[in-house]
Formats: sequence, C-alpha cells, structure tokens
Amino acid sequence: MSRYDPDCIFCKIAAGHIPATVVYRNDYVMAFRDLNPVGPTHVLIIPLEHIASLSQLSEGDELIAGHILMAARTVAEKTGVLESGYRLVFNNGRDALQSVGHIHAHLIGGKSMAWPPFAGQPIGHG
Ligand code: AMP
Ligand code: ZN
Repeated sequence: MSRYDPDCIFCKIAAGHIPATVVYRNDYVMAFRDLNPVGPTHVLIIPLEHIASLSQLSEGDELIAGHILMAARTVAEKTGVLESGYRLVFNNGRDALQSVGHIHAHLIGGKSMAWPPFAGQPIGHG
C-alpha cells in the first residue's frame, strides 16, 4: 500500500488532482516547476509516495531516495543546467524553513549563486 496523505498538496500534485508544470516523472518520483521560482531554473523533485521529510525516511526507502538523486540529474539535463551548474537543496524541519511536509528537493540553477547560506548572520545558534 503506497503512502498518501489527502491533506498534502504534493500528494495531490502527484495524484494529478492539482495541476503542475511537470518536467519529469517515473514510477517513483516526479519533478515540476516551483510556483515561486527563486532563479531561472527552480524545479521540485518529490517522491510519489508521502514521506514527510528526510527525517522520516526509513529502511526500505533506499530506492525512492536514490531515484530523487537520479531524477535531479535528468532534470538538470532537461532544463539545460547540467554543465553550467545547479544546487540541490532539501529544506528539512523548522530551522531549515521547510514549509511543505512532503520530501522535496529544490533544483536551482540558471545563474551564478552565493555561498554560504548564512551570509550576514553570526556563527552560533539563535
Ligand atoms: P520548502 O519551503 O522547502 O518546503 O519549499 C516548498 C516549495 O513549494 C516553495 O518553494 C513553494 O514555492 C513551492 N510550492 C508550494 N505549492 C506549490 C505548488 N502548488 N506548485 C509548485 N510549487 C509549489
Ligand atoms: Zn504528501
């Protein structure tokens, strides 16, 4: 029995109940354009099954987890950033500002980025 949360927006996208601009899909994952892109390329890669966050991955999810990374490579190729470069970001939990509780990798690219993510903030907690 595959995992599905009727209240989850990304489960609804995976089921085709909410429209999305799909870039790639296979039996395990799908990729679609982020509604509010932060760069020229911004695609979300999600497992078709509901898994709330990376922290909720469990034994048996290896295939799904692997497919997310493999799909990222395919999406990078399809969106033309394979050579120029891209960033794969998983926001996980409160401190990382995860806002949708269904695993998603942000594939971001299309222009030069900054590093590190805490630029301008003091090192240390709080
Ligand atoms: P996060 O803050 O890491 O949980 O990222 C959630 C992302 O989902 C944000 O970048 C939103 O813009 C994006 N998002 C939310 N709803 C949709 C939707 N219906 N279609 C596409 N992207 C969405
Ligand atoms: Zn879900």
